[in-house]
Amino acid sequence: MKRISKRQFVRRAIIFAAFLLFPLFYNFLSPYLIINGAFEGVVNGSALTFSVLFLSSLLVGRAWCAWACPAGGLAEACIYYVRDKKTGQKGNWIKWAIWIPWMGLIIAGFVTAGGIHSVNPIHLVGSVISAKDLPSYIIYYFVAGTIFVLSLTAGNRAFCHYACWMAPFMIIGRKLRNLAKYPSLRLVVEPEKCTDCKQCVRSCPMSLDVNELVARGDMEHSECILCGNCVDTCHQGVIRYSFSKG
Ligand code: SF4
Ligand code: SF4
Repeated sequence: MKRISKRQFVRRAIIFAAFLLFPLFYNFLSPYLIINGAFEGVVNGSALTFSVLFLSSLLVGRAWCAWACPAGGLAEACIYYVRDKKTGQKGNWIKWAIWIPWMGLIIAGFVTAGGIHSVNPIHLVGSVISAKDLPSYIIYYFVAGTIFVLSLTAGNRAFCHYACWMAPFMIIGRKLRNLAKYPSLRLVVEPEKCTDCKQCVRSCPMSLDVNELVARGDMEHSECILCGNCVDTCHQGVIRYSFSKG
């Protein structure tokens, strides 16, 4: 079995643990409960989580996806079975086709309710524990099953590319960060050291053409989740993390 770096071992352990604990807190990532809350003028738990993800992306991009997301934990567990199945990038727009009307509905909800009246992290669920009865377990298995099937059929982390309703918050935050040009977590490269071995391409769980990003000397890509696989795989030390303006 291929050896992985200590950093990647720790990262995968964290996101797999997040996946195992997902039944306890999935309501805080719910794309459905936020709509109910909006129409009552209530900022619920998932609205708070998505706000935190957006704010975090202003400093650390999509690091949540690589280092904390339970869906990522399940998707990367599947990678052991679909290691060579790269996900096509052409369908990345699909998540925007889901996200834009969904956000429109949330905004319409708050407008209809006359604005924000209260903040309640456990609005409509009454408990911080998410899966506590049969219907909530059915929801949980439906979401987990969708992530699992997409990974097995469409490729590595296909759910993150095509269906994740959280990714756009972080992609927008990262674009704003790039426009403002202040120091933040990113990848930097020294293309002249690259030997074109393409190990980085093989290691990328987001199926990016990392070699091409290296060749152009700019690692910025909306689908990069800052997992660091390419950093740890490249024996030439071409790619590294940097907290800088880029
Ligand atoms: S792993 Fe390193 S040397 Fe090999 S192609 Fe990628 S950046 Fe270049
Ligand atoms: S480019 Fe590197 S850091 Fe970004 S997702 Fe791919 S392997 Fe991870």
